[in-house]
Amino acid sequence: MKNIGKVVRIQPFSVNDGDGIRTTIFLEGCKLKCKWCSNPDSWSGIVKLGVSKDKCKNCKKCIELCPQNIKDLFDRKEINSKCNLCGECVKNCTSNAICIMTNTMSIEEVVKRVEKDLIFFFESNGGVTFSGGEPTYQKGFLRELVNIFYDKGIDMAIETCGYFDWEKCKDIFEKVDHVFVDIKVMDENKHKRYTGVSNKIILENIKNIGKMNKSIVVRIPIISGINDDIENIKSTANFVKTNIKIPQIELLPYHKYGIDKYKMLGLDDYIYEYEAPSKVRIVELTNLIKSIGVKIVDYK
Ligand code: SF4
Ligand code: SF4
Repeated sequence: MKNIGKVVRIQPFSVNDGDGIRTTIFLEGCKLKCKWCSNPDSWSGIVKLGVSKDKCKNCKKCIELCPQNIKDLFDRKEINSKCNLCGECVKNCTSNAICIMTNTMSIEEVVKRVEKDLIFFFESNGGVTFSGGEPTYQKGFLRELVNIFYDKGIDMAIETCGYFDWEKCKDIFEKVDHVFVDIKVMDENKHKRYTGVSNKIILENIKNIGKMNKSIVVRIPIISGINDDIENIKSTANFVKTNIKIPQIELLPYHKYGIDKYKMLGLDDYIYEYEAPSKVRIVELTNLIKSIGVKIVDYK
């Protein structure tokens, strides 16, 4: 039993992660390192103390009472080796420049938080969405939540990168109602180059999910010059059509909203800026996908 989990945040009134009004639970951890990731706050292995250079007035009040005797909040080496996220500096900063970008939560705490929103779920045909990071990264914690919400009759969606051990996670997928799964790029070498892993497991898992009787949407993050070529989109649409009973794709144009989070976490070295596709390109790709017989959906 895994009763404690790492939760980046719980976002109520979410309307982009499935049908109706939803409460999205962002779980920490992911085995991929996509170069365009907009959620570095979900990466594991770094201390999630976010500090804003723009807001900081350099008054040093934050470090006066630091029990770990940290001398510089912008020194990531010092933070990563000594900070225990006690939150003392957050309380002492009057400029709102510091935040803790993760939470350790028990199953009971997450369930209690979600239950506050039940009325909205039932009135809007909404529910819970598990997101991340990659929710299956904490599969024990995820499984417990899924089992509880399943028993309570709450609609569940999962947003997954598709990279997980099928045998160890299939019971989770059997219980959720909707699956949003990414195909970043079909070419295996390109996939390795931009995400750090092969796409073989992902494509196999999509075939397995495709055999289940549930709503599945394949999401493609569209990054200009990386995966927006006709060949890649055609190949993705054909794969979706062949392997999913009701084939649906959502195109997610690249955006740069995550850049501030990289800066706050001192991850400037990981910032890669790409180009978003033009509206015209999105229309062209939409038409191409439709011409192959795959429905286009849009939750954004
Ligand atoms: S969270 Fe606590 S340990 Fe970390 S820098 Fe702030 S005061 Fe120090
Ligand atoms: S207390 Fe806030 S404003 Fe002052 S130095 Fe620390 S982070 Fe900057």
